[in-house]
Amino acid sequence: MSTFLFDKTVFGPVISRRLGVSLGINLLPNDSKLCSFDCIYCECGWNPKKRDKKVVLPARVEVSDMLRDELIKMNTESLVPDVITFAGNGEPTLHPEFAGIIDDTIQIRDELCPNARIAVLSNSTMLHKASVVEALKKVDDNILKLDSGITSTILLLDQPVGKFDLQKVVQNLKHFEGELIIQTMFIRGKYHGLVIDNTTEKEVVAWKALIKEIRPKSVMIYTIARDTPSNDLQNVPLDELEKIAVSVREELGLTVQVSG
Ligand code: SF4
Repeated sequence: MSTFLFDKTVFGPVISRRLGVSLGINLLPNDSKLCSFDCIYCECGWNPKKRDKKVVLPARVEVSDMLRDELIKMNTESLVPDVITFAGNGEPTLHPEFAGIIDDTIQIRDELCPNARIAVLSNSTMLHKASVVEALKKVDDNILKLDSGITSTILLLDQPVGKFDLQKVVQNLKHFEGELIIQTMFIRGKYHGLVIDNTTEKEVVAWKALIKEIRPKSVMIYTIARDTPSNDLQNVPLDELEKIAVSVREELGLTVQVSG
């Protein structure tokens, strides 16, 4: 299937189904994916098996210059983003200057579009780093991935590149003391002959138990909307996502945003 890479560091604005008018920042390479997960549903495709050249990430100063230039240009066209979103070709918190880039972005946002939110979409794998956690606490919306409450399902769905310990991730998410949004992809299909379905009762019960422990300020649930690198995957119908959302609202009293 045809997946998609962002070919710029600052991209958009795009209309995001979850966030509104979003000006994107891609802190990863512009020609390949770089992620600590290799999710079978990732719209950026797979991590390269082997890299022929050194990975080049945009420097902190380049990111701030590009962001400033783009916001000045948008201002002259009377365009204002609802949100500045760190997303792109992989995991933004892998960037070694992530914390400094967040500080710069807050300063530029305050100066040029004070009403815009700053959001980071992250897969939660770098939360053992204090600088990443401190930076994420400064943004308006830190949207952190938890695709299942069962380790074997996460290993299959998200294909972590390094060691993965679900209990440690949950402990790290609890350190935000509620100042986080959990994002979860619901999906069905097969991968290498193994059946995947994180919407079964067993799955949803295990996932909700962790959500209850983490106590995020809200939850975003969604399903695939674009091409995926693995062919044998299906989206989950909106009415089924809604049922999961209702149970979270009723049992845990949390706000849930659903995107089909
Ligand atoms: S965490 Fe995001 S960028 Fe990384 S592989 Fe998964 S979907 Fe792709």
